[in-house]
Amino acid sequence: MSFRIGQGYDTHQLVKGRRLVLGGEEIPSELGLLGHSDADVLLHALGDALLGAVGLGDLGTLFPPSDPKWKDADSTHLVREILYRVRDEGFTVVNCDLTLIAEAPRIDPFRDRIRRRIADLLEVPIPRVGLKATTNERLGAIGRGEGVAALAVVLVESRARQGEQLPR
Ligand code: MG
Repeated sequence: MSFRIGQGYDTHQLVKGRRLVLGGEEIPSELGLLGHSDADVLLHALGDALLGAVGLGDLGTLFPPSDPKWKDADSTHLVREILYRVRDEGFTVVNCDLTLIAEAPRIDPFRDRIRRRIADLLEVPIPRVGLKATTNERLGAIGRGEGVAALAVVLVESRARQGEQLPR
């Protein structure tokens, strides 16, 4: 068995007139995240962590913001696309752990919904998706509520059985 670990980080500005989509779920909020795609900060951090685990670059390289194809893109599609590549490399997801850094909204009421959505996406049981939230203690831009950030760590394992060639 061979394991790889990846980490990801993302941040987006909070603005009026945009939807707030976190982990593929729309969250009721007066402010939403600004970005070329749906700006789903949690899925972007997760996507980068997956790519990092298998050494395949980053989200910006794979889905350039300059490409109109990704305008307002549903980030669940981006993560699915990344998962195909992770599997092509011979790996499957073990678990992920995500942290949202935001002054608002509170994630508690939506935590289980988001975890279920991400578990569906990654095809893992719900307990394998960790989702935590913290504020920035009112420090800096995130502390002033001008944006949110997300961190992700993901573990993947090779599907090679005994005697089989391990992935690169
Ligand atoms: Mg992003």
